[in-house]
Amino acid sequence: MVSRDQDFSFNFKIVICGESCVGKTHLTLKFKDGQVQSSPDPTIGVCFYEMVVQPYLNENAKVILWDMAGLERYRAITYAHYRRANGALVVYDVTNKNSFIKCKDFIDMLRGTGDSNIVIMLVGNKKDLVDDNQIIREVTYEQGEKFAIENEILFIETSACTGFNVKEAFNNVFENIYQKIVLNSI
Ligand code: GDP
Repeated sequence: MVSRDQDFSFNFKIVICGESCVGKTHLTLKFKDGQVQSSPDPTIGVCFYEMVVQPYLNENAKVILWDMAGLERYRAITYAHYRRANGALVVYDVTNKNSFIKCKDFIDMLRGTGDSNIVIMLVGNKKDLVDDNQIIREVTYEQGEKFAIENEILFIETSACTGFNVKEAFNNVFENIYQKIVLNSI
């Protein structure tokens, strides 16, 4: 359910999840203010960021980003954190196959929240590392794409460090929420 209030057309809740160290906090901060910290403080618990976006023409949406970095380390994420989420970015590291395998658990948990309309974007992060062959890629673009198609979710590869596709990842989720939930409910 997308809520409305008097100042904004819509309120979106977006959760950022995935295994530890895949880049959730860097992606969130890069999107939020276009910059990343070189050595961010480790996050413990959920960090919330509020912003205003335009998912469509002159429509304003208040977005709350829930960065789950920290919680997964302690297996402390519960269904309550995902409840009423309108969208989610499920992040893995393209140089870490294990982080990709774990995405299925996060998707199942998100779909278990009861919001059948939730928009999920699979995000293969740290693309910069494989672009200049610093580190061997463990998950191909095709594997990510195939997994996304099988699970009926969106897919993109990003780099939180260079900013590649970061805005696109978030904005695509906002636009899809708008189209899938808002337009369908009219
Ligand atoms: P989180 O635990 O998922 O929130 O991960 P962080 O955002 O804290 O990032 C974990 C580590 O990965 C940090 O050392 C970041 O500098 C690094 N990192 C995050 N995103 C990228 C990226 O796109 N490219 C590269 N090369 N490193 C990244």
